Amino acid sequence: MLNIALFGPPGAGKGTQSEFLIKQHNLFYISTGDLLRKEMAAKTKLGLEARDIIAAGGLVSDEIIVQIIEKTITDNAGSGGFLFDGFPRTYIQAYILEGLMLKLNTSLNCLISLTVPEEESVRRLLHRGATSGRSDDHEAVIRNRLREYNQKTLPVLQFYRDKGIYVEVDGTADIAAVHEQITGIIQQELSKKLFNVVLFGYPGSGRGSQGKALAKKFGLEFFATGPMLDAEVKLGTATGKRIKELYDNGQLVPDEIVVPLIEKKLADSKGVKGYIFKGFPRTLVQSYILDGLLKKHGSAVSQVVEIEVPTLELIRRLNARSHTDACMPYDNSTEKIVKRLQEHESKTVPVIAKYNQLHGVTKVDGMGTFEEVFARTSVVIENGFKNMR
Ligand code: AMP
Repeated sequence: MLNIALFGPPGAGKGTQSEFLIKQHNLFYISTGDLLRKEMAAKTKLGLEARDIIAAGGLVSDEIIVQIIEKTITDNAGSGGFLFDGFPRTYIQAYILEGLMLKLNTSLNCLISLTVPEEESVRRLLHRGATSGRSDDHEAVIRNRLREYNQKTLPVLQFYRDKGIYVEVDGTADIAAVHEQITGIIQQELSKKLFNVVLFGYPGSGRGSQGKALAKKFGLEFFATGPMLDAEVKLGTATGKRIKELYDNGQLVPDEIVVPLIEKKLADSKGVKGYIFKGFPRTLVQSYILDGLLKKHGSAVSQVVEIEVPTLELIRRLNARSHTDACMPYDNSTEKIVKRLQEHESKTVPVIAKYNQLHGVTKVDGMGTFEEVFARTSVVIENGFKNMR
């Protein structure tokens, strides 16, 4: 998720800039002012409570703000991110936002402050007042709104300066120039975010070869735990020796060994745009581990894809592979092939179901030639990339 707060005095141009940004970046727009005006128009209890305060240019209570914002955020948890306009407006609300973001397992990426001198704000609001029909776009109320801004809202900036996610933009420049500056800031934020794909599919579905080719095409790092373990065995490290013993006894490598290796690989890969995970997570436990590992790097799973192939075709493919040089030690007998398919069904299918609930899983038809499946999967990943941008 990409979460941005647009900050500035009334009349700084937050609403205008928001319109461009939500279109460009597929963000869900939350303007507490708009939400309150909706409540007032619908004459709800909240709207009636807020009406007089808004008309006088004061700030409505945090209780009201939490009520209107919490529902909007949780109802739209699946969006690409949020663009906040007019929130947080007090130091207390900055803490409230932290808590709300935490609830969605995300955080605010940056606060962009549009700076405009007070007299320019007044001039713009009076101009807007001629057509806006807003009860609070009159000079006396405007002055009060600005007083509230200086006293209660400006301290919010220190909160974000301390967090190191505060960026300032000169709001007196023309609309296009301000937009260009904000776009630059957002692009920079996005380039810090990793695009992480988890690629699922039964053994024999082609997830390995597709994953490798997709990683190359999209400039992502292919992340497969199997080869990582094999590499360790080849290196002959203490861990490698332990893995070899387990392999020789036909045992699974426990998470205690796999996780530090993944951790090391994530820490070592610098400047990557993201990963394609294949073969991990294989169990529900591993899916929680992956969430934790990515979270440690300020990241998360961005997209989940499953390559679907009918069971008979899987068996046909794995059996065919067992007669070639590409035969893996684990597919050299019918018994082993059936066991692997069963393992996937009992352990990994529940992981896919979990992701489907959380993020949605995009299914790709895995029948046809390599190129055909690659073309289909590429479209899916390309769309995922676009949604993130
Ligand atoms: P705006 O549309 O953002 O200029 O907001 C209009 C009015 O709604 C403000 O002057 C406040 O009275 C009220 N309001 C909007 N957002 C908040 C907030 N986060 N906290 C308190 N009051 C708010």
